[in-house]
Amino acid sequence: MAFDAHKIREDFPILSYRAEGGPLVYFDNAASAQKPAAVIDCEADFYRSKYSNIHRSAHELSRKATVAFEAARKTVGEFFGAPEGYSTVFTRGSTESLNIVAFCYGGKFLKAGDEIILSQMEHHANIVPWQEVARRTGAAIRVADILPDGSLDMDSLRSLVSARTKIISICHASNVLGTVNDIAEISKIARSSGALFNVDCAQSAPHCLDDLRAADCDFISVSAHKCFGPGGVGALIGRTGILNSMDIWMGGGDMIESVSWGGTTYRTAPEKFEAGTPNIAGAAAFARALEYLKSLDLEGAKLHEAALLKRLSEGIGQIRGLRILGVAERKTPIVSFACEGVHPNDISTMLDASGIAVRSGHHCAEPLMDRLGVKGSCRASLAFYNTIEEVDFFIEKLKKAIHFLRF
Ligand code: PLP
Repeated sequence: MAFDAHKIREDFPILSYRAEGGPLVYFDNAASAQKPAAVIDCEADFYRSKYSNIHRSAHELSRKATVAFEAARKTVGEFFGAPEGYSTVFTRGSTESLNIVAFCYGGKFLKAGDEIILSQMEHHANIVPWQEVARRTGAAIRVADILPDGSLDMDSLRSLVSARTKIISICHASNVLGTVNDIAEISKIARSSGALFNVDCAQSAPHCLDDLRAADCDFISVSAHKCFGPGGVGALIGRTGILNSMDIWMGGGDMIESVSWGGTTYRTAPEKFEAGTPNIAGAAAFARALEYLKSLDLEGAKLHEAALLKRLSEGIGQIRGLRILGVAERKTPIVSFACEGVHPNDISTMLDASGIAVRSGHHCAEPLMDRLGVKGSCRASLAFYNTIEEVDFFIEKLKKAIHFLRF
């Protein structure tokens, strides 16, 4: 049976929300995806029936919460294909995961003369921590370029790799261009130079799971909220041996083995990086979101998203004056576009008046905006619950908005 987006929409209560401008057309999924009732109920039920702090108390609720939290860890690790020898650390999301790698690995092991390779299409979360680590350690950042279609310039990447390269840290999918990078190939490049490979999977996590199984990554970062799960929780999945060799992230409860005035010893990963009380119900709801995804026809969802992306790209491509940023062959369902002489916020404000939610601005990727020669863009980002009718409605409203704003 064909994938039925209309039916799937019934799982997501907010999709029947009526915005001031009309029925909600939610095209801001790359910023944060909406949540199915299963996830909302899971989190609410957690607080109703099993909430307590974890790992610490001998009472029944604490046992229940601990079991659920650890079961969630297993679900998350398995979903993202973490093989034997990897640990799943719960974090606040991709930003925190990327910061842990930069500060706890880079901060400890990098030194002057070492190089960190990033790319032109990185989100600030995979730039700023490295800039700070470079400043503190004396290591240098090298930036792999992009090609005119928005794909990663693999020759540029290869030309930067040398014995000085200590880590390659690159997004799996760009949050602006939609480009899906060939992480299997990049992992080979990293291996050939003895560098570590850190992958920002914030955008790819819900879309391209198979790639993760094919690539040899040292770390991957994910955010639950982009995978139809709750906010404020995510994961860093990394090689246990490397995680154990790294500096601690935060000190506090739960991450120690013993504390005395003479000194403190730490637990191993994952707990080593989980000081303090985590988002316990959020972790359970994150796992529930992944279970929900597993219950779907994911192949059908992928084909549906590809059909939506094609229709959206063709529609936007036909509007005079619009420039699509990123037309790589392999993309997540994102179309960013700029219009000369028109501020992207004006476009999104006009779309909002029709109930359409898109993102406008620099998308936390200012270096990429500079590289593309634009100040900002509008971004329509889709999910499997979006429909062809919504795409057509969007194109109709976008045409009118551009016509109004340009002439
Ligand atoms: N990396 C990429 C590519 C992203 O798109 C985002 C968020 O949009 C992040 C990292 C940061 O994710 P979060 O805000 O969930 O920590």
